[in-house]
Amino acid sequence: MELACLDLEGVLVPEIWIAFAEKTGIEELRATTRDIPDYNVLMKQRLGILDQHGLKIDDIQEVIATLEPLPDAIDFVNWLRERFQVIILSDTFYEFSEPLMRQLGWPTLFCHRLVTDAEGRVVDYKLRQEDPKRASVKALHSLNYRVIAAGDSYNDTTMLGEADVGILIHAPQNVKDEFPQFRSVESLQDLRGAFLDASNRDLTL
Ligand SMILES: [Mg+2]
Repeated sequence: MELACLDLEGVLVPEIWIAFAEKTGIEELRATTRDIPDYNVLMKQRLGILDQHGLKIDDIQEVIATLEPLPDAIDFVNWLRERFQVIILSDTFYEFSEPLMRQLGWPTLFCHRLVTDAEGRVVDYKLRQEDPKRASVKALHSLNYRVIAAGDSYNDTTMLGEADVGILIHAPQNVKDEFPQFRSVESLQDLRGAFLDASNRDLTL
């Protein structure tokens, strides 16, 4: 049995924090795991900036409701789900992702939770577990699934390494240079081909 595990932001949807930075004009919120590989350092920085600017969960959700999946992402997810069981492994938060997951047809999503207070201030976040993407692939292996995984950034590389086949898509040059062991593709069209090549079944486009 084969499973496909996909990263979300940068693969199927835009980087949510970057879109939020553009709307609010707060430059420091543009940083992502591409810039700061340590996710906890990155999130503490983001929550501090939100608090400084008095921004609440409703302000963030308003922006996310205006976002759309990347071109071809909806078709890609449908294509993939006809051929694999698909699980999205993301470092986003359920509170953020709902409008985008609706557009993608509600595929299974494993991610994190935000903690808000009574006034809607984002006061903390709860990571599901340490190294969650890798831990998810390990758990799926324990269920006797063969796992093919794809992602675009540093926070995907332990998932890609744990998977039976790991694929980079839309990855920045520094990630490609640092992880040459993973095949790298630049479009969801090419990712279809990479999944077919990685499968041990006789699948077709
Ligand atoms: Mg990503």
